Amino acid sequence: MKVILEEQGLRDGLQTLAQIIPTKKKLEYIDRLVDAGIKRIQIASFVHPKLVPQMADAEDVCNGITKKEGVIYSGLVLNLKGVERGITSGLDHLACSISASDTHSQKNARLTLNEAKNAFKEMVKLSQENGITVRGGIQCAFGCRYEGRIDPKHVLDMVDHHLDTGIDELALADSTGMANPKQLGDLMHKVVDKAGNIPVALHLHNTENKGYANFYAALMAGVQIFDTAFGGLGGCPFIKSATGNIATEDTAHFARQIGYETGLDIEKIAAMSREMEVILGHKLPGQLYQLVNKEEIKMI
Ligand code: ZN
Repeated sequence: MKVILEEQGLRDGLQTLAQIIPTKKKLEYIDRLVDAGIKRIQIASFVHPKLVPQMADAEDVCNGITKKEGVIYSGLVLNLKGVERGITSGLDHLACSISASDTHSQKNARLTLNEAKNAFKEMVKLSQENGITVRGGIQCAFGCRYEGRIDPKHVLDMVDHHLDTGIDELALADSTGMANPKQLGDLMHKVVDKAGNIPVALHLHNTENKGYANFYAALMAGVQIFDTAFGGLGGCPFIKSATGNIATEDTAHFARQIGYETGLDIEKIAAMSREMEVILGHKLPGQLYQLVNKEEIKMI
């Protein structure tokens, strides 16, 4: 059986870091991740450079890549302006995303939920008119730091709304890492059913240490695409308990042990995490890269 990991390390992983990683280094890492077997990779987000300085070189990164056949290079957009930038950057896949939490939406995107839903429709339309495939995302689909638990009925309504816009694939995000495997498994079963032949992806954070349990629950519910970041890169070292996505190499190893193949060279990815630890001067949240230092990863 197969499971696809979409690498988010260069976007979600880097975006909150105070230390700016040079464009050249980002391009090197994109190539090395693809060389390690990554078939989907998010390389930038088109957000305001003042808000996210790490992403100020989004266009340079997109123009600098050498696209390999069979690999999806994606950019994250949160509004129409982002879509316009995504179009001129030459990407052929955009992740358009809005929040399931009204409070989070108002604070983060300065849009009420209804305004965001209308804007989302326009974002999908404009992308597809320009030949771009769209992943329609729902942030904070399980929990929100402002609102607490998000009602699954509300999320399913948003899923219907997303699917009605004609998106090419659907993604739910546990942006805050608050979901638990029971709640998440139950909801993802319903989402996978609703989506039919539209692929469903899940974006997981390990903030409350449930990321890998949630990965397993979603896998059992039929989800086949997961967002991960090498080394579990992400979060902010200055914010209490903020962590990144589940780690690419840890997830690939876990998947392999339970009979799911990712096609990734785990050791190559772990080596990149070890290098990133040196560049950043602190440990990354991933575990496996620390274990396998110059040793083989043991399959048990
Ligand atoms: Zn995220």
